[in-house]
Amino acid sequence: MGIVVQKYGGSSVATAEHIKAVAERVEKAHEGGLDLVVVVSAMGKTTDRLLALAGEVAKDPSPREIDQLLSTGERQSVALLAMALHDRGVEATSLSGPQAGMRITGRHGSGVISEIQTERMRQLLREGHVVIVAGFQGMNALGDVITLGRGGSDTTAVALAASLHADRCEIYTDVDGIYTADPRIVPAARRIPMISPAEIAEMAWRGAKVMHPRAVELGALYSVEIHVRSSFDEGPGTVIREGKDLEHLETRETLAGIVHDLDVSRVALTGIKTGPGTLSRVFAPLAQAGISVDVIVESAPKEGAADVAFTVRRADFAEARRLTGKVASSLGGQVEGEENLGKISVVGTGMLNRPGYAARMFDALGRAGIPIRMVSTSEIQVTCVIPAERVEEAVRRLHEDFELEERDV
Ligand code: ADP
Ligand code: ASP
Ligand code: MG
Repeated sequence: MGIVVQKYGGSSVATAEHIKAVAERVEKAHEGGLDLVVVVSAMGKTTDRLLALAGEVAKDPSPREIDQLLSTGERQSVALLAMALHDRGVEATSLSGPQAGMRITGRHGSGVISEIQTERMRQLLREGHVVIVAGFQGMNALGDVITLGRGGSDTTAVALAASLHADRCEIYTDVDGIYTADPRIVPAARRIPMISPAEIAEMAWRGAKVMHPRAVELGALYSVEIHVRSSFDEGPGTVIREGKDLEHLETRETLAGIVHDLDVSRVALTGIKTGPGTLSRVFAPLAQAGISVDVIVESAPKEGAADVAFTVRRADFAEARRLTGKVASSLGGQVEGEENLGKISVVGTGMLNRPGYAARMFDALGRAGIPIRMVSTSEIQVTCVIPAERVEEAVRRLHEDFELEERDV
């Protein structure tokens, strides 16, 4: 019998009623003859609430204790879902991440899965149980609980699907699939019935919150077929899989969607002396501090001095500015920054070898009077860094300008 992994996000298990509705869905799939492993997130805004609570008792709570605290959110959900299934007469066992054999390495708050010891889950499946696993957590070498970072339950689900050789991984959320833009911001956005792993990976990394980027990457690496669906209705959703649509070949639509991210700030080092090794001096301290850097722009040197600007997440802004401030002054320059920025990207594998997307994007933003602070491009995306307060307007404009609402994607 085939194994299917289902994952229900926070909004799908927000209340007791929601949990009962999930139990009903799970029961149906189980009766249909599937071996089911169900991953659940914490109820509604529980994780945010727990984080706020931590901030009330301490100025700078330790990452280990934060993981200890946050992991309880998912553990509540798995136990409640198991009870709701028992109530319907379905045999089910809930497991925390460590109990499910999730082995994790790395830092607290951003752990990475190194191994999944699946024996306990396989035994329960053989006994006919629905196995319910707490998302976004596992155990490190010390036996401590460690989490995968915000939104990480998607990654738990895909990793389980890969290691259990599941037929597919179904991600149930509050939208009925992946859209050409965030449907909360662009009501005219369209559902994409099928998308390639490369496109959704790029969309996820660029900020499309519907899937955790690491989950998409893992799915591509281990060829896990992922279905994104609504937990509130029965629509077909979006299937993430290599395109096999042979009808369109080179005429197929070029753009998958418009993606935005509001968690962006910019640090710029100006007038620094450049030479071999300068960039390494700027970025090494950031890497050591575990700060990831996204867009990087370096100006051409003038009389031996140049400017280097880069973006980081807002939570890392102050630290990145402090660390690079020291480097800037040792190189005879200065540091400046802008905290409230956003990024907007047009993404699509069809952009490869078709010039003109960047120009069209700059033109649309220019006509709207939206200033562009930085630009980055690759074969399958163009990204502009713009002021945060103009991001939503920019998403709507680009969606309209690229005629995404009219296309049969
Ligand atoms: P969950 O709690 O189920 O993990 P998330 O809130 O993480 O759900 O992700 C679902 C949300 O992602 C949707 O409510 C939607 O607003 C947002 N979203 C952003 N970009 C897109 C997109 N391109 N397609 C669909 N949803 C998107
Ligand atoms: N509960 C965690 C979060 O809110 C993990 C997840 O939902 O994926 O980030
Ligand atoms: Mg999510």
